[in-house]
Amino acid sequence: MSVYCDVALPVPLDRAFTYELGGLEAEVGARVMVPFGGQRLVGVVVGLHDVAPGDDVEVKRVQQVMDEAALLPGELMELGKWVAAYYCAPLGEVLRGMMPLTAEVRRQWVYKIGEQGRKVLYEGAAKGSSRRSKLSVEDQNREYSVLNYLESGEAGKTATIRSATGANKALLDAMAKKRWLVREPLAEVRDARRVEMLAVLVGATEAESSHLRDDEAAVKMGHPAAEVGGKRLPKLNENQLAVMAELAGCGGRELVRELRGRMSARGIPDSTLGTLVKRGLVRLEETAQAFHVTGLQQEGKKFAHEHVLNEAQTEALGTIVAAMEKGGFRPHLLYGITGSGKTAVYVAAMQRALVAGKSALLLVPEIGLTPGTAAQMVAAFGGEVALLHSQLTPDERAEQWHRIRRGEARVVIGTRSAVFAPMPDLGLILVDEEHDGSYKQEETPRYHGRDVAVMRAKLLGCTVVLGSATPSLESWQNAERGRYARVEILARVEARPLPKVEMIDMREEFRETGQEQLFSRRLIEETQATIDRGEQVVILINRRGYSFVVMCRSCGEKLECENCAISLTYHKGGEEHSLNGEARVGQRLECHYCGYRRTVPKACPKCQSEHLYYLGAGSQQGEERLQELFPGARIGRMDRDTVRSRGDMERLLGKLQSGEINLLVGTQMIAKGHDIHGVTLVGVVGADFALGLPDFRAAERVFQLLTQVSGRAGRGELPGKVLVQTYQPDHYVNQFAREHDYTGFAARELYFRRAMRYPPFSVLANVIIQSERLEEVLEWSTKLGRWLQQRKLEGVRVLGPAAAPNSRLKRIYRYHLVLKADRRDVLGAAIREMLVVVDREEIPRRAILVDVDPMHLM
Ligand code: ADP
Ligand code: ZN
Ligand code: ZN
Repeated sequence: MSVYCDVALPVPLDRAFTYELGGLEAEVGARVMVPFGGQRLVGVVVGLHDVAPGDDVEVKRVQQVMDEAALLPGELMELGKWVAAYYCAPLGEVLRGMMPLTAEVRRQWVYKIGEQGRKVLYEGAAKGSSRRSKLSVEDQNREYSVLNYLESGEAGKTATIRSATGANKALLDAMAKKRWLVREPLAEVRDARRVEMLAVLVGATEAESSHLRDDEAAVKMGHPAAEVGGKRLPKLNENQLAVMAELAGCGGRELVRELRGRMSARGIPDSTLGTLVKRGLVRLEETAQAFHVTGLQQEGKKFAHEHVLNEAQTEALGTIVAAMEKGGFRPHLLYGITGSGKTAVYVAAMQRALVAGKSALLLVPEIGLTPGTAAQMVAAFGGEVALLHSQLTPDERAEQWHRIRRGEARVVIGTRSAVFAPMPDLGLILVDEEHDGSYKQEETPRYHGRDVAVMRAKLLGCTVVLGSATPSLESWQNAERGRYARVEILARVEARPLPKVEMIDMREEFRETGQEQLFSRRLIEETQATIDRGEQVVILINRRGYSFVVMCRSCGEKLECENCAISLTYHKGGEEHSLNGEARVGQRLECHYCGYRRTVPKACPKCQSEHLYYLGAGSQQGEERLQELFPGARIGRMDRDTVRSRGDMERLLGKLQSGEINLLVGTQMIAKGHDIHGVTLVGVVGADFALGLPDFRAAERVFQLLTQVSGRAGRGELPGKVLVQTYQPDHYVNQFAREHDYTGFAARELYFRRAMRYPPFSVLANVIIQSERLEEVLEWSTKLGRWLQQRKLEGVRVLGPAAAPNSRLKRIYRYHLVLKADRRDVLGAAIREMLVVVDREEIPRRAILVDVDPMHLM
């Protein structure tokens, strides 16, 4: 037995902490509760040993071991360590994210009988005091039952005492206040499934209890002839016998809730059960409620049309299945154009994994797990599927975690963090829309779900498939270099054509009309014609709100958020579609970063001029203009103002599917994977402003967006058309998008990246230095900048320090340093060395954010 354990704690420090076990037994991978800086934290044991830390450190003791065995399988523990090392994140914070179980650590109270309580119980003082008591007679009786129940001196949990006596927590606390009871804290790992209390007849096997039931009549007639567990029953009163008989009648086990209902209907008091418990005839147990996939089962039927895979799909499936059969780490890039039927391939591959006795994991982007997809998966896999998405409650999350860990859900479908799902026998990992930005976690640990998926497959030695119509350039380059096997589906299902994409030159439009208009004449014409034909239109306006810049004509001031260096967006309010019934929000200015809201000022806050003007149209303005242009159209809007929950998304998509909406306007949300067959026209408005953003991924993002939104057109019987309004029709992004030429775009873009030594031809880390006080940010970034300059790390280029493009967010000032290296090990070593300097210079560790493989440098 070890004397010490090292514990990884969820604190922003890059080390484990040593604690004395003091006779407790723990395994590596188990959770422990330990004192840390005045509080008690739950951490994970990462090492056991007998080496005392130096004499000068005071070693505290582990307070409680919470798991009998390692909670995380070794494979995941190893993956966690890899994530911590690769993303330079504290292991404790990584492990916390991997075990979404905070909901099941319950800090609660237990009660024991106190000196005073004993006195009351034995001397009958309760009767005496009760005359003066303000309590009802029922509560006085409950108090007596509680004392009676706790008489042995053992501690009881609130829920157990309540089941036995009917006393609630308030009553128990009142008793503790009178010193009848002693209250003590207890941290407990509970089963996160909702628990209920079960009453169990002690020693009653089925046979015995049926024997008891036969004798029920005799019992009732006052002849307690029944025996339990071979013992003759002690003398029981009528009520007690009735409860015993009732329990026996249900095979010896019944939910307390049920039992109590039936008893009180017969006028038997709550305390009877408690007495039976105390006399050892009945035992109380916690039991977990059964798990249900609510609602989805029926819905699944609607979506349950299974297709016979076509030739290209079959071939893709064949490659993946062959890899699974061979075994070993085999990364694949599935490049399948929009509408090529990738989902059907995923489902078939997962079915094959199950047949082979393995489990399968499918990662989807944040918005990809729409109820439609979920229902489709439930239809295919029934009760074997676990869905992990961002809107689960902590309890539900913990419940799913254990279900998966026990091997009850062999198919897991989930967003980013599902990559850590504790599945036994994982044989296949799929990452849908692998290019999607939502796979990157924008808080510590800043991991990329796709890359962790590949690493997990490598550690496990299993097949991993990254799928997309617009693969990230990192993945594409890996395929080019032969590190990933490339699987292609280059035609749409049923040989449907890709839509024809047309560029509308908005400079020309302006010259010809002499007016700056949101929608071009051509887009208006085509929209009208499409609606008239009874088909559907989708229009992308990639900003939400009404206007995204409010500016003063006199002094040029842009109205910014109080907390962030970010322009406020004007929301017109009024017709805000709060689909989930939330109160309407009126006209306002809003910060899209922190949510800050203010009223619309009458005059410029800086120069008092009344000439404020509104620039840049968002989706709300788009909807308003469309309503004016097409009064007969049935218009819907999809953006974060109208979609606040999965339910909202489902309703909107349902209306589009049924034709209740025939014109949908929205932000990039509308570009994500939706499969609506009636849409034949897609319009794109103002997407190319993003080409000008100071970000090396700007072109890649715009290309992905154009291709994905185009992919929503012509997915049914009728061919589709795409109209892209642009000021740069000759930009290569627009040119390649028009030709549906991903391969051409990738070659061109990779050429630039190589020349500029940007990823995937180098590795980057964005190091943010942050504080609420600007002086601190300046001081710390100067210190680090100077150190980096003097240290001259070989193979590392340093840009900055400089103010970050988002120089202030949520009242926090931000500077940054960008580190660029050719080799990952060199970059990692540089960051680790820098973090040591951070410690030495006494810069608080939480002031430094390290983002390895950043998605953007903001
Ligand atoms: P992707 O994700 O590749 O864009 P989806 O997986 O959404 O494409 O599939 C597009 C559509 O094609 C869906 O409506 C799907 O039901 C349908 N589909 C899939 N496979 C086939 C097939 N073999 N034959 C006919 N339709 C299919
Ligand atoms: Zn002004
Ligand atoms: Zn803000």
